[in-house]
Amino acid sequence: MPELPEVEALAGYLRQRAVGRRVDRLEIAAISALKTYEPAPTAVTGLTVVDASRHGKFLDVHFEGDLHLVVHLARAGWLHYREAFPATTPLRPGKGPIALRVRLDDGSGFDLTEAGTQKKLAAYLVTDLATVPGVAKLGPDALAADLPTFAERLRSRRGQVKGVLTDQSVLSGVGNAYSDEILHAAKLSPFAITDRLTDGQVATLHAATRQILGDAVERSLGQRAAELKGEKRSGLKVHARTGLPCPVCGDTVREVSFADSSLQYCPTCQTGGKPLADRRLSRLVR
Ligand SMILES: [Zn+2]
Repeated sequence: MPELPEVEALAGYLRQRAVGRRVDRLEIAAISALKTYEPAPTAVTGLTVVDASRHGKFLDVHFEGDLHLVVHLARAGWLHYREAFPATTPLRPGKGPIALRVRLDDGSGFDLTEAGTQKKLAAYLVTDLATVPGVAKLGPDALAADLPTFAERLRSRRGQVKGVLTDQSVLSGVGNAYSDEILHAAKLSPFAITDRLTDGQVATLHAATRQILGDAVERSLGQRAAELKGEKRSGLKVHARTGLPCPVCGDTVREVSFADSSLQYCPTCQTGGKPLADRRLSRLVR
């Protein structure tokens, strides 16, 4: 799933390539992906792209006249910039990976795609960002938050730190992959309870958050959009590395189920060498 660094890089890419271009048309191939009816997709025709930015994990393409195309890429969504499109015929609604296409006046443009059969990509064409449900609830940006803000937000919600860190209303931008990396860098158990963290642990977690996200943004910027996914994977130390050695201590990276997915961690670095119990499983057994 694209998280803060990837979405930041996609916004950066759009700023370089699309800003200043006029929209030829916005085409919708996956009708269900567009969550708004008013204004209609034709409203962007002829408008200039004036900016591209990020709100948490949401991508925001800003057109003149205060119109925004806001996109949540969900688990398998991505943006592909095209120097040219093979045909001028409009997209046909169908089952392919392309959800939306934006054609620009120089013949280039971009597709918003979604792999797989679970279609969760959500796009909103709005004049007021606060009307996008997920955006209105976003907490402060995880990369931009200073220590007092970070500490206050983290402690505002009592729970396992893994869940609180990925709660977009607490802090925005961090998902499953980077939370694994941040907790590993901070040497914290993903199941540590937020209100029992010491000030020192919170400060370490804050520093790790900025370091992991900042490094990932730096790696991603300047990459071609198509290569961003691979770059993310190569920078990870524990996430999606179950069974492989921890690059810090050499212990074997382990996995445990969490929420509707799983998390990865290093026992030596994070849990005093003890493997975490699978809570979902033990609850079933009991
Ligand atoms: Zn380790």
